[in-house]
Amino acid sequence: MPTAATDCAQSLGKIPNETPQTYQLLIEIPAPVSVLIGRFATFDFPAGIYCYTGSARRNFEARVSRHLASSLLLAKKPHWHIDYLLAAPDVRILTVLRHTLPECQLNQSTVGEVLLRGFGASDCHAGCGSHLKRI
Ligand SMILES: [Zn+2]
Repeated sequence: MPTAATDCAQSLGKIPNETPQTYQLLIEIPAPVSVLIGRFATFDFPAGIYCYTGSARRNFEARVSRHLASSLLLAKKPHWHIDYLLAAPDVRILTVLRHTLPECQLNQSTVGEVLLRGFGASDCHAGCGSHLKRI
């Protein structure tokens, strides 16, 4: 349900009148952590701030909520690579950014270091290398 404020901003052209389909999670890893990531086996993540870029054409907010779910829930039924990381102790999402740009375009314009090639990029055909970057 649009609010008067968003209607106003849209009419001024400040907010594109599209629903977001891409999101970025800013993730804090406060201390080095070893995480078992699906088929990658165990990977050591250095401490830092990471940016994960993902998209959901349908059920967008449900996907975002899933990422924000408790680590216990994610550990029980991991599905995406990011679930394994978010289920690790002390790893937390600092913020969620919503975008209308295509996922790979946004990911490639995000400056950061790829530590684990292939992470979150199983469906990527744009050569990103990884949809998780240390920023
Ligand atoms: Zn990509």
